[in-house]
Amino acid sequence: MAPALNRIEILHWLSETRRESLDDLWHEADRVRKEHVGDEVHLRGLIEISNHCLRQCHYCGLRAGNRDVTRYRMTPDEIVACAKQARDFDYGTVVLQAGEDEGLSLNVVAQIVKRIKSEASVAVTLSLGERTLDELRAWREAGADRYLLRFETSNSDLFSNMHPPRGGGRPSRMNLLRQLGPLGYEVGSGVMIGIPGQTYEDLANDLELFRELDLDMIGVGPFIAHPATPFGQAEPAKESESQVPASELMTYKMIALARLLCPDANIPSTTALATLNITEGRELGLQRGANIVMPNMTPPEYRVYYEIYPAKACIRETSDMCNRCITGRIEKLGREIGKGPGASPNLRRRTRGTATKLEKLEAKPVGLRRSRN
Ligand code: SAM
Ligand code: SF4
Repeated sequence: MAPALNRIEILHWLSETRRESLDDLWHEADRVRKEHVGDEVHLRGLIEISNHCLRQCHYCGLRAGNRDVTRYRMTPDEIVACAKQARDFDYGTVVLQAGEDEGLSLNVVAQIVKRIKSEASVAVTLSLGERTLDELRAWREAGADRYLLRFETSNSDLFSNMHPPRGGGRPSRMNLLRQLGPLGYEVGSGVMIGIPGQTYEDLANDLELFRELDLDMIGVGPFIAHPATPFGQAEPAKESESQVPASELMTYKMIALARLLCPDANIPSTTALATLNITEGRELGLQRGANIVMPNMTPPEYRVYYEIYPAKACIRETSDMCNRCITGRIEKLGREIGKGPGASPNLRRRTRGTATKLEKLEAKPVGLRRSRN
């Protein structure tokens, strides 16, 4: 693994505000991105297959307590049709995302995964929340390649307050995350930035946990308050020295630092970032360490109801429009559209288990230490 920035350096960068110094951080993150994952930007077609959810997360508009949401669940035929469209757009992966929906039972999801693998031949990422080990095992056996489960914050008190446990003796989110690798999944996780009560120390711990978990994919995005949630109804978090702002700048810093600490991971430039800066948020994410974009493939009649936060980017567009917009933006940056499933070099290294060219690259030091004074 590449030598890590130490904790003092991480904390220093998280609170740095000088533009010339930050340019060094962006430059180094971009250099490491190019060296480790190359110029290809892999596209993952995001299909939001259901907005039913039985959880009460204090941050999310899909929480069960929000009675103002029109709930939907896509049929298996609709989901497979979207996956075929993703293949026709040349995306190597589809991401099936949903609330924690009991209607998406073990058998229903297993059948959908099998059909996508045989009829559309793309990699399948699941992001269906905290599910049982039996379900996760069955879906992996059905052919699912990856599982995405953000730990949201490494601060366990903050997490349990904002994500009330489901009960029933089910494994914790962190436990599940540690089980996914042994089940054979490529593992994705991540955090929100600017959660009320989140400190710079918490973000430094998040970055250290990304590294410890040896993640294949790391998604970081700003927290955006939804008015129909406890966080949206509370007083906005007071600006203070310790409270992390839910800002665009803080998101870029987390992307860049995640790239330096986990150089072989896939890192998306997220929709939440594009929501804060629709003009160039995605592009700046890609220039500051990210190498993945997830164009929305959810049919327009459903995507308006997948409102996890307000004014979500691309909520009124069609899959065709998102495809054209995103590929155009990537080409303008001079980057290539990735071909194939785009597994992370991290996974390739783990599964090969022998010294490779990649590992020799990893031995090269990350040049950045402290910003200029
Ligand atoms: N239900 C699954 C879960 O919770 O893992 C997957 C769907 S959930 C909507 C996907 C992600 O949306 C969460 O992991 C969380 O980080 C993000 N999210 C939810 N509410 C958000 C908000 N208000 N602002 C930014 N991101 C949010
Ligand atoms: Fe449900 Fe996921 Fe939203 Fe929590 S974050 S309410 S589990 S959809």
